[in-house]
Amino acid sequence: MPHVRPWATVASALSASDDGMSDAENALTHGVAVKTIRRWRREYQRRGKPRGQSHTVVPCPRCEKVPLDRPAYAELLGWYLGDGYISLGRRGVFNLHVYNDVRYVVLNEHIAQLMSRVKPGGLPHTRVLRGCVATTVSWKHWPCLFPQHGPGRKHERPIVLETWQRDVVAAYPGDLLRGLFHSDGARVENWATRLVAGEPRRYEYPRWMLVNHSEDILGIACAALDAVGVAWRRPRSPCVAVSRRDDVRLLDALIGLKS
Ligand SMILES: [Zn+2]
Repeated sequence: MPHVRPWATVASALSASDDGMSDAENALTHGVAVKTIRRWRREYQRRGKPRGQSHTVVPCPRCEKVPLDRPAYAELLGWYLGDGYISLGRRGVFNLHVYNDVRYVVLNEHIAQLMSRVKPGGLPHTRVLRGCVATTVSWKHWPCLFPQHGPGRKHERPIVLETWQRDVVAAYPGDLLRGLFHSDGARVENWATRLVAGEPRRYEYPRWMLVNHSEDILGIACAALDAVGVAWRRPRSPCVAVSRRDDVRLLDALIGLKS
């Protein structure tokens, strides 16, 4: 029977199902009947009918040497190191999840676009969990692209970039910083007082703060800041701060504000 639904809907529902979403929730999310979800799962998951844009047919830039969208990868790496997670789903397919505050609507759309650029034709699906949007795409090859995937939390194990990743980051440090600072960072307004003509005056100044409990990830961030000529400090243990006015402006121009 030919599909009356657009392929994008079928693929997105299958991807959600790969990720473990229940048939009932999946039907609700995609606006189709539960029996339709079950039929798709029967055809594509159990009988193995090839999917138009599935996790098996999209070639891997690492295994198959197809081109990688390097700026999109650099930024997605930043998001992954900040608030990303790779889980093993059904049949050896991995799910890349990136979590971000539900308030940042534009950024959440942007994360989905980045995923579709790194996995060409990938169709991310989103779920809202406790004030966060989880954006997820399934692919067998996520561990090829994020070899930092491993058991335990990122700050409890070494996070060391491979040579090819360091090359991408060296070419696109601003993109990496955008992902890192928009996931684990905040642009905060600070204030201070200074004497003007003998009178204390309060003035405000913005600064960027990156908080991550992995010293390795903070080291990756500091190296990228060095590469773009933005001065940073370590005011306390899990933080990197960019505070000088010119450096804040430079970083603003490179990564934009959260939106
Ligand atoms: Zn691969």
